[in-house]
Formats: sequence, structure tokens, C-alpha cells
Amino acid sequence: MSKVIVIANQKGGVGKTTTAVNLAACLAAAEKKTLLIDCDPQANATSGLGIKVDLNKGHIYRAFQDPKSAPDMIYQCSYLKFLYVLPSVEELAAAEMELVNEIGREFVLDDVIKQIVKDNAYDFIIIDCPPSLGLLTINALCAGRFLLVPLQCEYYALEGITQLIKTVELVKKRLNPRLKLLGILLTMFDKRNKLSYLVENEVRKFFKHKVFKSLIPRNVRLSEAPSHGLPIICYDLKSTGAKAYLSFTKELLNNHL
Ligand code: ATP
Ligand code: MG
Repeated sequence: MSKVIVIANQKGGVGKTTTAVNLAACLAAAEKKTLLIDCDPQANATSGLGIKVDLNKGHIYRAFQDPKSAPDMIYQCSYLKFLYVLPSVEELAAAEMELVNEIGREFVLDDVIKQIVKDNAYDFIIIDCPPSLGLLTINALCAGRFLLVPLQCEYYALEGITQLIKTVELVKKRLNPRLKLLGILLTMFDKRNKLSYLVENEVRKFFKHKVFKSLIPRNVRLSEAPSHGLPIICYDLKSTGAKAYLSFTKELLNNHL
């Protein structure tokens, strides 16, 4: 059975996409067959992995319209044999509104994934979400088993988290009882900044064992890699960013999955 991990936080710019892309790549490097589903109309994960969408082949928006064809819309990455992508396009933004009138509107992505795994098994499926708690994120939460929340080490880090937790509790109660908070990943940690340590302490005090031991430092190489269409381990394996995502992936595989 594929393990489906949803990466969500309605706050923008906290490291969701960076985590989705690099976790997927590290899993693939460990020879786990991994599919990244880009569920954000910004399509940052798609471009960050160097995927050029071929309109004849399709993309996530078309998969939402026609889940049965989803297995044909998967792209394989040239630089990592075990890494696959269901890419996004700007048009996906329309789905947020179009879904409203559909029956079973929260479960379209779940249907897409069911069609995909019928055709081809994956060890892991990683879903990157947009910065909102709209229907696209709800679809991801209904399709997933594990929720991973990236949290930026900055002053307002915890703001919005209560709202996210409330939404997750409601989704669990009404739509997807199997959903489980896998953990919180601290991102963009700046070891020269006292505030990073303060935020880390605060978050660990509040969420205790739900916070991963590994944390992701602020690292320029991590922000450069997407413009080369590569995950960090292919762009600069020796960078602190690459080491951080490799150790986080190891922590996940050894202790949580
Ligand atoms: P959005 O909510 O818009 O989807 P996001 O939560 O997906 O944003 P990212 O796109 O991953 O956030 O990161 C926001 C910006 O910060 C990007 O430019 C990214 O390259 C940069 N960034 C992310 N993580 C790091 C890091 N650890 N060190 C340095 N830069 C980072
Ligand atoms: Mg993003």
C-alpha cells in the first residue's frame, strides 16, 4: 500500500514546497518509488523538479476532471529513477470553485490516487498543498493518511496553527478518520538568530514529541535549487540543506513510517 503524506500549512512561504520536493527526492534516492502530486495552482513543485508540462499528456487539473485518465498524466524525472510527478498548472485554481457544486467534492483527489495506484504501485505519495484551507487542501487531507506540517522559525510561526489543527480535527471527525498528524518540521532555522531558538523552544514545549528532531536550516543553496529545476540532493549534495533533508528523511523512515 502506498503511504500518502500531505504537506500542508495555510500560511504562505513556510517551506511546504521545498519540503515536498526534497522529501520526495530523498525518498526516491533511497530507492523508494515516490510520486509527488502538485496540488497547488502556483505549480512551484512542478517547476522546482524541472517538469515541463506537456498539454497532450495532461496535468493535475485534468486529473481532477477525469480521474480515470490520471495514470497517463504521470511524468518520470530524468535525474532520479524512482521519482515521479503529477504536475500542476495555473488552471487548477479554477478547480477550487468548480468543485463546490460537485457531489463528493472532498474526495476527488482520493479518487485520482485510487486510479493511479490501481495502475502502478508507489511506496510513497507526497502531496504539496496551496497556502489556504480551501477545497484543494481539504481534498489532500481526505486523500492522505499522514499530515506533515512545516513551520517556519519566525515570530508568528504558531499563528494560524490553531486554525489548521481545528480543520484537521473536523476532517478527521467527518471525512477521513484515518488522517494522522505525522509531525511538525521546523524550517528556515537560522542559527545566528536568537529568535530561531526561541521559536524552536516554544514549538517543542507546545507540541512535544510531535516535533521532528531534525530541523531544516536556512540555506541559500535550498533557495537556488528550484531555479535549476533540481532537488537539493541533485543540485548540491554537500550543502547543509541537502544534509538536513537527508537526515529528516532518515528520521521519518526509521521512527515514523
Ligand atoms: P507557498 O505557501 O507560497 O506555497 P511554501 O510554503 O511552499 O510557499 P516554499 O516555496 O517552500 O514555501 O519556500 C518559500 C521561499 O523560501 C522559497 O523561495 C524557497 O526557495 C525559500 N526557502 C524555503 N526553505 C528554505 C530554506 N531552508 N533556506 C532558504 N530558503 C528557503
Ligand atoms: Mg508552495
